[in-house]
Amino acid sequence: MHELSIAINVVSELELIVQKEKAIKVVSFTLRIGKLSGIVPEALDFALESAVKDTVCEGSTWSIETEEAIGKCSVCFHEFPMQEIYSPCPACGAFNPDIVAGQGLKIVSVEIEEQNRI
Ligand SMILES: [Zn+2]
Repeated sequence: MHELSIAINVVSELELIVQKEKAIKVVSFTLRIGKLSGIVPEALDFALESAVKDTVCEGSTWSIETEEAIGKCSVCFHEFPMQEIYSPCPACGAFNPDIVAGQGLKIVSVEIEEQNRI
């Protein structure tokens, strides 16, 4: 269960944010996953359902965006959208471009509920 360990990591990052901000809980958050990250959005969504239980994220809502993958040719430096990890450069046909976007997972926004200040 690749996605479950990712979901648990996301939740612990969110817990850190809540601690740092001295907030009560997470209200909502947005994740962005790269097309080449190997993460299946539906599977991550499902994994989050169980990962948020009994945490500061319980009861929160989330959305998952996908990020297009961009490769940069290491020969001619052409940048192009990548459909898969082995896409060759459309300009010169070289393989192994540097992947400049679309590989990881990012928490792009978090809404937290703050404590009432007395
Ligand atoms: Zn090229």
